Amino acid sequence: MRHAIFLLTLLLLAHPAPADWLREEADVMGTRITVELFHSDPEVAQQSIEAVLEEMRRIDASMSPYIESSELARLNAAAGHAAFKTSGELFSLIERSLHFSELSDGAFDITFASVGFLYDYRKSKRPDAGQLKEATALINYRNLILNTDQKTIRFNKPGVRIDLGGIAKGYAVDRCIGLLQQRGIRQALITAGGDSRMIGDRWGRPWTIGVRNPRNEDELVAVIPLMDVAVSTSGDYERFFEEDGVRYHHIINPASGKSASEMQSVTIIGPDATTTDALSTTVFVMGLEAGLQLINRMPDIDAIVVDRNGELHYSESLQPAKKMDAGVNPSAQPVSD
Ligand code: AMP
Ligand code: MG
Repeated sequence: MRHAIFLLTLLLLAHPAPADWLREEADVMGTRITVELFHSDPEVAQQSIEAVLEEMRRIDASMSPYIESSELARLNAAAGHAAFKTSGELFSLIERSLHFSELSDGAFDITFASVGFLYDYRKSKRPDAGQLKEATALINYRNLILNTDQKTIRFNKPGVRIDLGGIAKGYAVDRCIGLLQQRGIRQALITAGGDSRMIGDRWGRPWTIGVRNPRNEDELVAVIPLMDVAVSTSGDYERFFEEDGVRYHHIINPASGKSASEMQSVTIIGPDATTTDALSTTVFVMGLEAGLQLINRMPDIDAIVVDRNGELHYSESLQPAKKMDAGVNPSAQPVSD
């Protein structure tokens, strides 16, 4: 899926970037990373971009389940038998993941991977009924035993696996924004696949985020001007295959072990990318009603949702944004339904 990673299209609607803005793209964490920033000293700007890419590579090397030497892969291999001593960093991100599990009554669950590893979307591979039943029984975030003092994690059943794919990109974006802020950067955008965070404005105007039509990559269903926030989109078009009219994609409903089928895409806007990344996956699994109810209870979080029928919905506090004109191309207002 070459296009899969572009679930959020950043639109340069009005002006091209002035020459002293730097922009760089790279492929890290199995996804496309974009960094765009301004600093009056071009050397600081260039070094900052390199620091971001380096940090992304560091997090990938420690949290990818596919890299055998990664801390996460070692945890998965060991924690079914004995408590595994983690770095504080991995421990904290797993703790944050559990927070979203509690919040959503298990819709977000990093142990989805106990089933998830049986799917290979590129090869159209999926578990048979027997495998699915057996592996789904292992999905439960309560199967993780955390010792906060020792920073150890143990699985209370062999066969449990963790994958941080629903939260790690957002976390990486937050870490990198932190690095830029430490270097005195006041205007920047970092995107990792479907997870973005921006600081400041883009030469005097808001950043502009487009939400694509999940069934037509060339069409936008909403365009929103934003500043100083994070945005994440989860979509069923990112990694999938179809068989007998069923779409098998990478967001798994922990209750069934099968792809969540209530939504086509979920976009979350919030203060940090770890939160928006986790919540986009969470709301995708929860479905329209329960998902929007959760978001409406959270004061600084907004959602734009395309349901299973392709209909567009907004969380309550975003409703006025439909009429907002913040210097965006007037033909690009959110299109309802
Ligand atoms: P995103 O694009 O942020 O929604 O992340 C999708 C990724 O989240 C998948 O590729 C999986 O790695 C992971 N994932 C899938 N289902 C779940 C789930 N129910 N809870 C937590 N993570 C999940
Ligand atoms: Mg996510």
